Amino acid sequence: MKTLISEFAIKEKVEELAQQLSIDYKQKNPVLIGVLKGSFIFLSDLARAMDFPLQLDFMSVSSYGDDTKSSGIVRIIKDLDDTITDRHVVIVEDILDTGLTLGYLVEMLGARKPASIRICTLLSKNHNRKTVHISADYVGFEIEDKFVVGYGLDYRGYFRNLPNIAELEEEDLALGFLAD
Ligand code: 5GP
Repeated sequence: MKTLISEFAIKEKVEELAQQLSIDYKQKNPVLIGVLKGSFIFLSDLARAMDFPLQLDFMSVSSYGDDTKSSGIVRIIKDLDDTITDRHVVIVEDILDTGLTLGYLVEMLGARKPASIRICTLLSKNHNRKTVHISADYVGFEIEDKFVVGYGLDYRGYFRNLPNIAELEEEDLALGFLAD
């Protein structure tokens, strides 16, 4: 496994994003929506770096597809607990790849008439975007088209607990605990 983004670089970037969000949302009592499971570590660090009133809610979606590519057909596993009508919403994602998942989410949540809706993603793979009208308002790092794990991101449920972001390599797939 090769480290792409170190724990320290992530920490600095999260603080930078939190500062930008603080400027934009300090007076707006926003609700940050974490898209489970991948965003849970990013959201918990991001939220703790912001020192003003905000609320957190979570959605869990599953995108049909194989282990490393999403299909764009999204199923809601867990919906938000509370209404977002007239609220300032920030969707917090781990990674924006094709944009299909977020495209669907923005449309679905937009129909609930929030006061505003923006996207904050830690990682973005720009060249894979099919849903061209989707772009994130706050982006941590632009990365190449490599499958990455760590800091919340998984492969078959593993590696979410890595403190850094790493590129999964062929030899990692032979690890015993990943065997079916
Ligand atoms: P999109 O719908 O934008 O193609 O895909 C977004 C979702 O696909 C992410 O929330 C994540 O679950 C998954 N995904 C896309 N690229 C990667 C990657 O490099 N690593 C991991 N672990 N998941 C990815």
